[in-house]
Amino acid sequence: MQPTIVIAGRPNVGKSTLFNRLVGRREAIVSDEPGVTRDRREGDANIADLHFRAIDTAGLEDAFDESLPARMRRQTEAAIADADLVLLLFDARAGVTPLDEHFASWLRTLSVPVVLVANKCEGRAAEPGRYEAYSLGLGDPVPVSAEHGTGMNLLYEAIEAALGGVAPPPEEEEAVEAEPAGPLRLAIVGRPNVGKSTLINALIGDERLLTGPEAGITRDAITVEWDYRGRRIALVDTAGLRRKARISEKLEQLSVGDSLRAIQYAEVVALVLVVNKWDLVADKSAAMATLRDRLTTSLPQVTGVSVVTVSALTGKNLDAIMPAVFDAFEVWNRRVPTAALNTWLADVVARHPPPLAANKRHIRLRYATQPKARPPTFAIFGNRPQDLPDSYRRYLENSLRDQFDLAGTPIRVNLRRGKNPYQEKR
Ligand code: GDP
Ligand code: GDP
Repeated sequence: MQPTIVIAGRPNVGKSTLFNRLVGRREAIVSDEPGVTRDRREGDANIADLHFRAIDTAGLEDAFDESLPARMRRQTEAAIADADLVLLLFDARAGVTPLDEHFASWLRTLSVPVVLVANKCEGRAAEPGRYEAYSLGLGDPVPVSAEHGTGMNLLYEAIEAALGGVAPPPEEEEAVEAEPAGPLRLAIVGRPNVGKSTLINALIGDERLLTGPEAGITRDAITVEWDYRGRRIALVDTAGLRRKARISEKLEQLSVGDSLRAIQYAEVVALVLVVNKWDLVADKSAAMATLRDRLTTSLPQVTGVSVVTVSALTGKNLDAIMPAVFDAFEVWNRRVPTAALNTWLADVVARHPPPLAANKRHIRLRYATQPKARPPTFAIFGNRPQDLPDSYRRYLENSLRDQFDLAGTPIRVNLRRGKNPYQEKR
């Protein structure tokens, strides 16, 4: 049975272009006019040997009386009712727009797995947009160019991983623990004027970036190669990515309100919360209490996230940042052995069996595996996963987090129909 994959996103991000490429026929109309393609198109698609049914939602948003976000939601909702996976496209050249954010945060509330796809990634013009997309909270964006056909290998891998189909056989799993190649990519995100550029300068000890009191003075994303105690770090300064905003210098707003708003979408990246300008805080324990309180209510997804208070200006406590980053990075990359996962699954299910489905059928969860890390993504196979209530999903998630020490990192749990995939193959 081939999976069904829905291509979603706001108008003009390249959904039809991608659909055409995957289906291999010039079936949908492509145009610069937003919303020119009118009908929902479906076709048999493939990337190499990966075959699936593709649904193009381009044009669905092109309807009547409601607001655009409401239309996109309603129409896409219908399209993804039977979907196994959603590819959420955004235009990396245009960057992340409020409509993309709206769409992403809605999709995150559904139980269908989502792969975030950065389209129009040919050339460097797309780079800032790609980094910015981490703020959507959907993990690593997969860079492609639908028009030029690049990145299809990465898309292949991401789709397979999200569908839970590419876990290595259990006996080989422990062998894939190699250190990820390349530098650790560390993006410094936050509202304009919180001190991102000052912090990077202070960390690398070099006045390489322009800092100043005006919001958004550094215009482009700048990557700084940095050698930190023998480890290669690619520091990305995202100052200037967000459009100029009127920022009050009032400290409460900078340290709590604005910063939290800036990161509330970021729950699928490994997160370290750096609270800057701590030198200006008079009552530090009261400020910390407020912050902890706000974190609990605003970011429950990353319970246990590291909070580091610093002053980029005076240099105080900057030493604490990188150890917290490495800790978060380690959890982000963690792989839980399949045997341990299945012991855990048997245990949680025994302690609290899933409730009966509406038609009084039993929901059985049979097998768990971790098809990918970054972020830790788990697949749990069972007979009627679609009937599992959200409260039970949260129970599974929290228990996984506790059991395998995944504090401070968002994890994903995809529920899949089926039995142990390895037994089926044998
Ligand atoms: P849709 O509304 O999301 O279906 O978007 P379309 O597929 O109609 O594409 C919108 C515009 O983006 C068209 O002008 C396409 O040629 C262009 N486009 C699509 N993919 C790419 C790409 O990979 N790179 C660039 N530069 N343009 C693209
Ligand atoms: P960015 O827009 O986030 O890159 O912010 P900048 O690095 O340009 O800093 C904005 C302003 O905040 C500048 O005037 C900095 O001197 C000031 N600033 C940055 N870090 C600190 C800090 O730790 N303490 C204080 N008091 N001011 C800071």
